[in-house]
Amino acid sequence: NSRPLQGRVALVTGASSGIGEATAVALAEAGAAVAIGARRKDRLDALAAKLRDGGARVLQLDLDVTDEQACTAAVTRTREELGGLDVLVNNAGVMLLGTIVGADPEDWRRMVQTNVMGVMYMTHAAIEGMVEQGSGDVVNMSSVAGRTARKGAGVYNASKWAVNAFSESLRQEVTGRGVRISLVEPGAVATELTDHITQPEAKRASQEMAAGMTRLQAEDIARAVLYVVSQPQHVAVNEVLVRPTDQE
Ligand code: NDP
Repeated sequence: NSRPLQGRVALVTGASSGIGEATAVALAEAGAAVAIGARRKDRLDALAAKLRDGGARVLQLDLDVTDEQACTAAVTRTREELGGLDVLVNNAGVMLLGTIVGADPEDWRRMVQTNVMGVMYMTHAAIEGMVEQGSGDVVNMSSVAGRTARKGAGVYNASKWAVNAFSESLRQEVTGRGVRISLVEPGAVATELTDHITQPEAKRASQEMAAGMTRLQAEDIARAVLYVVSQPQHVAVNEVLVRPTDQE
């Protein structure tokens, strides 16, 4: 079956670049109608046009996941305009690496508000409807950084550990009600993620790390998401950890 998601509706946050964009493409190619959310409208315009050219039903959402009302509105509009919501991919995130000593707490707020509260708001908005319909997938984009803490990544680590804990607790809570909660945990992927790092030393270190290996492509992670959500209903892929072959 080349279109395993035919008839299903997906919402991908952070769809304007990187992993989210590649995931939206992969889900659409698999037959899903796709709602794409992020803040950069020009990037979403281009993606929406591309998906429509490929024959997909698309809904473009102006979405800042740190805004609870915007999260609720995104879920409501998806249900109204695409006819439901079967797959939520909580992908939006920021990685503002740096030491804890001397950090700008504004970096911390951005990470916690986006990576943690964003996932919680979106999940809260979507989960009741999924429980009521007795099916649905929530795929949370965590990281290797959600399993292994390292110096220079403390608050990013904390944000992704929070995602893992939230996901596992919710998984237990909704077990037996048809809803699946999954974690996808990439290692280094070639995207715009490191562009936003504010501490110069941390930015340099992450660029050096990237230069020392063949990083994953966003499409490699999109395939993992597709694998998770296209399983038969009785199969729950709880967790997928994907590193570049060269990454320690
Ligand atoms: P990108 O920077 O390319 O993509 C991040 C996406 O998140 C963008 O679409 C951005 O859109 C969106 N975003 C950021 N803040 C917000 C916000 N407040 N509201 C809505 N959308 C937001 O990086 P990646 O594709 O690499 O990152 C995607 C996810 O993958 C993140 O959660 C990241 O932590 C995770 N990850 C990435 C790894 C990597 O090595 N690249 C490794 C492990 C995990 P916009 O700015 O338009 O709003």
